[in-house]
Amino acid sequence: MGFIPFNKPFIAGNELEYIKQSVESGKISGDGMFTKKCHEFFEQKYGFKKALLTTSCTDALEMAAILCNIATGDEVIVPAYTFVSTSNAFVLRGAKIVFADSRADHPGIDEDKIEQLITPKTKAIVPVHYAGVACDMDKIMALAVKYNLYVIEDAAQCIDGYYTGNDGRQRPLGSIGHLAAFSFHETKNIICGEGGMLAINDEQFAKRAEIIREKGTNRSSFFRGEIDKYGWVDIGSSFLPSDIIAAFLYGQLENLDKIQQRRIELWQQYLSLLKPLADAGKVKLPTVPAYSTNNAHMFYLLTNSLDERSNLIAYLRKNAVYSVFHYVSLHKSEYYASDNEVPNLPLCDRYADTLVRLPLFYELKDSDIQHIVSLIASFYN
Ligand SMILES: *Cc1c(COP(=O)(O)O)cnc(C)c1O
Repeated sequence: MGFIPFNKPFIAGNELEYIKQSVESGKISGDGMFTKKCHEFFEQKYGFKKALLTTSCTDALEMAAILCNIATGDEVIVPAYTFVSTSNAFVLRGAKIVFADSRADHPGIDEDKIEQLITPKTKAIVPVHYAGVACDMDKIMALAVKYNLYVIEDAAQCIDGYYTGNDGRQRPLGSIGHLAAFSFHETKNIICGEGGMLAINDEQFAKRAEIIREKGTNRSSFFRGEIDKYGWVDIGSSFLPSDIIAAFLYGQLENLDKIQQRRIELWQQYLSLLKPLADAGKVKLPTVPAYSTNNAHMFYLLTNSLDERSNLIAYLRKNAVYSVFHYVSLHKSEYYASDNEVPNLPLCDRYADTLVRLPLFYELKDSDIQHIVSLIASFYN
């Protein structure tokens, strides 16, 4: 058995052919033919009012912060167990980040602990659908209505994930908050290297989003022939990707169902093969609440302690299998802790210490999973 990496990018279909077509079309800057195809795909499949490709999920979050007019003194509620960009995008606008703890049964934000963090300065909540598992959006949207807040879904990991609300309606993740930010980084389910998307569900943001994404100009209207010259009308930056990137992404999108099906198969294999170890109390396995689908973004397990996790990762590595831990608690990070009072968030700390992510990528073989699980079993026995 050779070395098994944690992640491996792959070609799903016509990615390289589409890159060639993009170059031959004579336009490889942003908003070319493949960008338009990607936008249409997302708007049709997931019902976003508007989809805008960006160069990363980080950029999409930064656009969201600008669109919500986040400014100095505003507070934004973010889970402490997340990637830095979920916070940084709002810190860049001057916001103070207020961290929320994770759920006991899942690393995602504890929806029941959000309300106590809301103050008159709170402007937005940024739920993260960790591992592609939905946050309880009914609870979060009810708070948004009650306190007049924006909800920006950090949808980086949750492509093709769905949430079933109290009304029984199943809705795509990223279509529920006012805005949502997706990632197509090579470690996500659908990839283009570095890439992302802002999904706009509240129409009031649509026009300004185009402007902010085009360096604060109304160039998009100009290209549609709506105005006869374009100029500087707002703040903004260069948030749009090259059409070459969109061409690669479109090749992946055409194979989305195939990719998702295989990832879910692999995820289920991990779950059933690891069940005996969980039943014996050696490890804890992921759970998915009834209101969420599982998009198989990530397979993780929880060890009993930080030491045990370090030893397990080292043991797997010694046997040529690359597993990784995930987030370090943001509320204890050097950047945050040096300038803020550090809240007590024990569940976040527990996930930060004990969560291990196992290899999961399209080309992983069934036999790889059997091998990885047998190594984990021999570590514990
Ligand atoms: C990957 C990820 C991001 C960042 O995505 P980029 O496209 O690399 O900017 C942000 N938030 C979460 C939760 C992520 O998993």
